[in-house]
Amino acid sequence: MNDIHKELKEVVSSLKGHLIYQRDILLAEGLSADEYAKIRAAIRQESESRSQSKQSAVGSQQAAVSNPPIQQLTDSPQIPGKSHKELLEGLRSEIGVCQRCKLGKTRTNLVFGVGNPDAKIVFVGEGPGRDEDLQGEPFVGRAGQLLTDIITKGMKMMREDVYICNVVKCRPPENRNPEPDEIDACERFLIRQLEIIRPEIIVALGTFAAQTLLKTELPISKLRGRFHDYKGIQVMPTFHPSYLLRNPDKKKETWEDIKMVIARLG
Ligand code: SF4
Repeated sequence: MNDIHKELKEVVSSLKGHLIYQRDILLAEGLSADEYAKIRAAIRQESESRSQSKQSAVGSQQAAVSNPPIQQLTDSPQIPGKSHKELLEGLRSEIGVCQRCKLGKTRTNLVFGVGNPDAKIVFVGEGPGRDEDLQGEPFVGRAGQLLTDIITKGMKMMREDVYICNVVKCRPPENRNPEPDEIDACERFLIRQLEIIRPEIIVALGTFAAQTLLKTELPISKLRGRFHDYKGIQVMPTFHPSYLLRNPDKKKETWEDIKMVIARLG
């Protein structure tokens, strides 16, 4: 949207300059006020029609990038000569202004993911909340602060050392749970991110992340506390930080899970 505004601003500004230039020439030629007003109206009409055609060209471009066919997504994410950073950027631009599920209509920002593209550990949450939706970054609210504490104080790592993303990239309204069709539509992007980064360990935060990755309906309480396999990557499910804020007594169990992750990372 910012790009479109920028382009339109440039068009309007260049037409304004053109108009002033024309006015100066016409006034210099000694035209009457009436004659000048008529010519000015004609110039304005032409400006508006040029601006409209520019806007519609930009609009079609946006539509083209907003929903690229899924088959256009790169088949093999590991392309020789391309860094993980470049591949993630490529994936982000392929997702575009996504409207592949109904969450696209209500979000403020699509929250793709943040962190080290070469991370050994990826944290996967459920979906963006209000703060994340507004800022376009995962885990930035109170739950985000708790996750940051787990990473920095518990694991003695920097937030920038790890990669953080969610199962769905757009906020479910009123913080409701993501629905199955939304997970179905969005999960492919998470799969790509994990294929590109190829971390040693994934920490699945909460029921939805764990169930989506592990294709199970078991609750998080039955999944946490041990490693699982996701396409050859070890997965440690643990409680979601939002759940820990409501149930601080569960922090002890999360700490047990995180200690196992630290030990496995060596
Ligand atoms: S949640 Fe995922 S599939 Fe749905 S609109 Fe957002 S990015 Fe697209």
